[in-house]
Amino acid sequence: MKTAQDLISAGDLRGKRVLVRSDLNVPLDLDGGGTITDDGRVRASVPTIKALSEAGARVIVCAHLGRPKGAPEARYSLAPVARRLQELLGAPVAFATDTVGESARSTVRGLQDGQVALLENLRFNVGETSKDDAVRGAFADGLASLADVFVSDGFGVVHRKHASVYDVAQRLPHAIGGLVQTEIDVLKRLTESPERPFVVVLGGAKVADKLGVIESLLKIADRLLIGGGMSYTFLVAQGYEVGKSILDAPRLEAVKGYLQLAKELGVEIVLPVDVVVANEFTADAEHRVVSVDKIPPDMEGMDIGPATQELFAAKLSDARTVFWNGPVGVFELAPFAEGNRAIAKAVVSVTKAGGLTVIGGGDSAAAVRQFGFTDDQFGHISTGGGASLEYLEGKALPGLTVLEG
Ligand code: ADP
Ligand code: MG
Repeated sequence: MKTAQDLISAGDLRGKRVLVRSDLNVPLDLDGGGTITDDGRVRASVPTIKALSEAGARVIVCAHLGRPKGAPEARYSLAPVARRLQELLGAPVAFATDTVGESARSTVRGLQDGQVALLENLRFNVGETSKDDAVRGAFADGLASLADVFVSDGFGVVHRKHASVYDVAQRLPHAIGGLVQTEIDVLKRLTESPERPFVVVLGGAKVADKLGVIESLLKIADRLLIGGGMSYTFLVAQGYEVGKSILDAPRLEAVKGYLQLAKELGVEIVLPVDVVVANEFTADAEHRVVSVDKIPPDMEGMDIGPATQELFAAKLSDARTVFWNGPVGVFELAPFAEGNRAIAKAVVSVTKAGGLTVIGGGDSAAAVRQFGFTDDQFGHISTGGGASLEYLEGKALPGLTVLEG
């Protein structure tokens, strides 16, 4: 597999049009006029773009934002992201108001060596995510016609068989970008030779999405701390009642199976011992701490309680490797943010002690940044939650396998 660095070292990029698939899918505050609330993914995309531009390439960045339904929608425009990218690059970014149309073509024609352009949201075109190979292929043809070389650097989408990730790589000479390489290197360290104890913190809202990875993680980790929305299905599996907390009833049997498997493998699964319950899902809801055997039938679990914060911190204190995916509480609402803050603190201590700490998952990353932690307090903050989980599950990622061909 060729790397972007190989292309740069070979020294023949001057004047070449390089299409870079980046992941610029940042959270926007749509009520606040489209302010970027966490620019982590934009910052993570800069090094590859900058390196190609400094090598004299005409860099055409493409990316998606949110989930528009295959047609333009003003609120999902990448225009605010183009402005942020320009600030971070310290150089102008020409913005095309379409992806493969007249604006894209003339913007690319106008690029001089070393200049950078950004195309409008790829998902404004049905071809980007279509399940129909021909529809995707036609869109990929359009993208490929804009460039001479393709660099795949959007780690958050490498698990997707999308036109700009998969099909375009079949149409152009291609290389893997530095960000994707770094992400894969870190994941390899987690799966192949983790220093022990290896402690995993799993949270977030959906058990269904993370079920597959639980099984894989049980095989590589020493301890699994489960918090957040997914913990209630585990609590029910252990016989507790969880009131109005989110519960994935159809997955209850599978969860019981994992508790059993953990026992057989000698992996410790640690569940909350107390939770913060609220009478509704709002910041000013009535709330209080209860132990897990006293969750009132008319209330909902929103965060881990103080005893669980201490328990989880203790279980992290001797870790040499940590993988954290998914918030342990509804950190977006101030009264329910303390659990995540406590986990973040405990994880930072592991980094300080020389351990490898990895945060995977967009919301988990947003949580630690919201608390004011800096990226260098963690070993690695992944830009792709879904992609890292699929990698850890041992699935083939189409955006990577296509680069091998
Ligand atoms: P990530 O993006 O880090 O992988 P997820 O997308 O799986 O994380 O989950 C993030 C969401 O989970 C957050 O919006 C958070 O508010 C929510 N969450 C955490 N704890 C709970 C809970 N107890 N009840 C409901 N939602 C929760
Ligand atoms: Mg998420």
